[in-house]
Amino acid sequence: MYEQNNPQEFMIRNHLKRFFEKWHADPDFREQVFTDSVQAASRHNLKVNIEEIRQLWDTEYASLQGDQAPISPTLEIYQKYFQQSDKKDFRANISTNPQYTAWRARQIARNDSLHKKAHHDAIVHASVAFELSKGCSVGCWFCGISAPRLEDLFLYTPENAKLWREVLELLKEILGPATKTGFCYWATDPLDNPDYEKFCSDFHEISGIFPQTTTALALRDPERTRSLLKLSRKKGCDLDRFSVLSLKILNQIHEEFSAEELAFVSLIHQNSESDTIKANVGRLRERNHKKAELSELSQEDDFSAQGTIACVTGFLFNMVDRTVKLISPCRASDRWPLGYIIFAQGSFSNIDDLRAILQRMIDEHMSPTVRDNDLICFRDELKYEKLPDGFQVSTKIMTRKFRHQNYLRELGEAIQKGDKPAAEIVGLFNLLGVPSDKTFQALNLLLASGCLNEEPRTKTLAYAR
Ligand code: SF4
Repeated sequence: MYEQNNPQEFMIRNHLKRFFEKWHADPDFREQVFTDSVQAASRHNLKVNIEEIRQLWDTEYASLQGDQAPISPTLEIYQKYFQQSDKKDFRANISTNPQYTAWRARQIARNDSLHKKAHHDAIVHASVAFELSKGCSVGCWFCGISAPRLEDLFLYTPENAKLWREVLELLKEILGPATKTGFCYWATDPLDNPDYEKFCSDFHEISGIFPQTTTALALRDPERTRSLLKLSRKKGCDLDRFSVLSLKILNQIHEEFSAEELAFVSLIHQNSESDTIKANVGRLRERNHKKAELSELSQEDDFSAQGTIACVTGFLFNMVDRTVKLISPCRASDRWPLGYIIFAQGSFSNIDDLRAILQRMIDEHMSPTVRDNDLICFRDELKYEKLPDGFQVSTKIMTRKFRHQNYLRELGEAIQKGDKPAAEIVGLFNLLGVPSDKTFQALNLLLASGCLNEEPRTKTLAYAR
């Protein structure tokens, strides 16, 4: 661990981190730095020479210096810790379940055509998320998943602890190592639940990973937060996150927690002065619609704006209600205002119920190949166009062409009509001399590339118990 190997360098790294936290959140601080960087650093107790990294915050200076800008010791530390990407590749955390793996891959391919690369790269497509409360006490006006008010908690009673551990074991059995990408919050704040740490410790014991925490309640009980950070680090989690809702809260967090204590905590700047642009989804989308200003409404068609904050392609549980949904991100729309598609949902009262529900979700929605009775049509967001030797489908982000085979032009037309199941299309092409396996192969390629519509045709109905 580098904090032990080189404490001086670690201290500078942490104060650099703190400098940029203030820089991105606070325009007054930026002005102070431009006026007198040494005084600004000392006023905020930043133990770092920010003149030595001037090219990182003063664009005019950086362009004058060009490639000739000196590499100072502080800049070297910055480059070592913040420019070398040591991001974990959650997308590579592949499940041992071939149906889930194929389904998740095509949801990722679908999302590739919906978001700018930088936005989609930030979506980890985690396998599972657990809500350990019903609702959230924070009530952020911009909440991208429109969390309702806090109503109830899933406490670590003997009965709940037993069910919790059974659920984790079941997911491990079904998903394999992909369970490690899970986490224990969604439209909830983890620290609303007084037993959150106990649930996370079980998660660690069963999956081998201590789940990442994101909380807006770091200041509610600083001693509890401190212990959670220590526990999380001790169990191997190397990044937790605090949501910062105002500049006042940022300053309080910086007063309460030292730069070292926040060494492995990323601050998410949600304050109005920060340079973060919020996604047009959930409560913020509702608000934008209410304002009914054309410029804001047009954000829906603006693919450069972030269209979701959802990051799970898999199972979303609410442990209070004992419900589970099969979800994957999409751009927020009237049908999916929270920025994720709900493919299926159900409720369970015990682990046997849950096993049956998850198996049904997998069997009904995650077939790796097209089945005879599947109605074949393109996704609604795709624009279809004929080509002389095939067809193409596109969004504002991406175009996919299928060509160089005589029958593809007719296949595109048949899919565009969207009124036939796979077996009927295959039969028609058989009459035209195209062997069944060739047509199925083409349909399977379209399925795998996320071009076929898999959304529920009607409102997602809950599986009955
Ligand atoms: S953004 Fe997070 S903390 Fe805020 S209301 Fe939504 S779930 Fe709660």
